[in-house]
Amino acid sequence: MADGGLAGTITAMDRCDRCGAQAYVRALLPNGLELLFCAHHSRQHSSALTKVAVDIHDETDRLARPAA
Ligand SMILES: [Zn+2]
Repeated sequence: MADGGLAGTITAMDRCDRCGAQAYVRALLPNGLELLFCAHHSRQHSSALTKVAVDIHDETDRLARPAA
């Protein structure tokens, strides 16, 4: 793990913890752990995530935009 903080954008190096697809959502837990989810799994776990995560960095809107 690099030096912490949620400031950075999610990169192609970041993979969903569930399926290994490209991650678009990063959730920070109170214990400092970060969870990464693809768009599919972030939706699947969104209600639980909003309850437990102290910060959620969501870049799923990048999926809706056409590539530049
Ligand atoms: Zn996934």
